[in-house]
Amino acid sequence: MLNLKSVDQEIIKDANKKMIINLLRSQGELTKQQIAKNIGVSIPTVISNINELLQEGIVEEAGVGDSSGGRKPVIVRFKPNSRYSFGIELGLYCIKIILTNLDSEIIEEVVLDVDLLSEAKTEKDINEFFDKISVIVNNMMQSKAILKASVLGIGIALPGTVNEEKMILEWAPNLAIKNIDFGILSKKTDMKIYLENEANAAALAELRLGVAKDMKNLVYISITEGMGTGIVVQDYLYKGKNKRAGEFGHMTIVKDGRLCKCGKRGCWEQYASELALLNEYNTNSVDKLTNISEFFKKLQAGNEICKSIWDEYLEYLAIGIQNIILILDPHYIIIGGRISNYENLIIEALKEKVFTKNSFFGPENIKIFASKLKSYSAIMGVSLLPMQKLFFLNDKIL
Ligand SMILES: [Zn+2]
Repeated sequence: MLNLKSVDQEIIKDANKKMIINLLRSQGELTKQQIAKNIGVSIPTVISNINELLQEGIVEEAGVGDSSGGRKPVIVRFKPNSRYSFGIELGLYCIKIILTNLDSEIIEEVVLDVDLLSEAKTEKDINEFFDKISVIVNNMMQSKAILKASVLGIGIALPGTVNEEKMILEWAPNLAIKNIDFGILSKKTDMKIYLENEANAAALAELRLGVAKDMKNLVYISITEGMGTGIVVQDYLYKGKNKRAGEFGHMTIVKDGRLCKCGKRGCWEQYASELALLNEYNTNSVDKLTNISEFFKKLQAGNEICKSIWDEYLEYLAIGIQNIILILDPHYIIIGGRISNYENLIIEALKEKVFTKNSFFGPENIKIFASKLKSYSAIMGVSLLPMQKLFFLNDKIL
C-alpha cells in the first residue's frame, strides 16, 4: 500500500536538499550552521543532506570557519565542476554545441557553419546527422577528460514547435523539417535529451542568468532567420494548452502581405526577422549581402539604402511589439538573437517608435532591453534544462 506519509517526507527531503544546493551554488561556500539559519531547517537535517551531497561529489569540505566559542564550524563548498551539461542549438546556418558546468560557465564550444539537419531528408540522413552530433559530443568530453557519468544530459534548442515528452521536433518551418525523433540521439549518446523551442529556452536563460534575473513578467523576442517569442508570467514559462504559445512571428501584420513559409501571408517574421532585413536590402540594391554584420557595417557607414530599410524594419518590429504589449502588458520586452549585438542601433530607435502616438503605455510602463546573453541566450537556456532536476523545485511551466 502507498504510504502517503513517507511520500510527503520524501518530497520535503528532496525540497530541503534542493534548497541547500541552490544556496551553496549562489553563495559558493558556507558553514553548516549558516546553511541551517539561512533556509530555516535544523542542523541534523543540514548534516544528513550535506553527507549525501559529499558522497555525490557535488560539495566538498573546505576547512573551518571562525568560532564564537566551542568547536570551529566546518565550511562546505559547492563544486561547480562536479557535473556538466550540454547545450545544442540547431539553426538555419549553423550548429552550435556547448559544454557547461553547474555555474553555467562554458567549458568547451564547437560551432559548425553548416546546416545538416534541414539537408537531412531520409531516415538514413537523419541517422547520419545524429551520428555526427554524437561524435562531437564524445570528442568534447574526451578533450576535457570529462566522464559520461558526470554529464546530466543534453538540452537542444530548436526553431520550431517541439513535443518535449516524446522528444520530437514537430515542425520547423524555417528548416523545412517535420517530425524529427531526437530519441535516436538519446540512444546514440546514451544521455537524457531535453528539447525546447529556442525562444522559450532564451526566455528561461534571461530569467535565470541574464537581464531578467529579478523580473517576473517578460516577453523575449528572438530575432533570427525567423521570429519566435518566449513568454514568462510570474516567473513561469507560459507555453499554453498545446505548448505552442508565443508564435507571434506568425501573427498577421500586413493583410495579404508577403508569403510566409507557414503558408499564411503578412506574418510578422516576413517583415521583422533577420532574413526579412537582408531580403529587403538584396531586392533594393545591386550588391548582395549574406549576413547582417555586413548590413550593419554599411548602415554605420551612412549607406542611404540601408538607412531607409532600417527605418522601415524598425517600424514593423515596433508594430509587433505594440501588439504584444497590448495583449500581455509585461514588465519587460527583451530583444534577442544576433541582432541584439547591435544594441546601440536598435533599442533607442525602437523605443521611440513603440511609444510614439501611443495612449495606452509609455516608456515609464514597460522597459525594452537588448538581451544580456546575446546570441547565447537559447543555447544557455537549454543547457540549464538537464540541471533543472538538480536545482529547481519544479519546472515552472504554465
Ligand atoms: Zn507565418
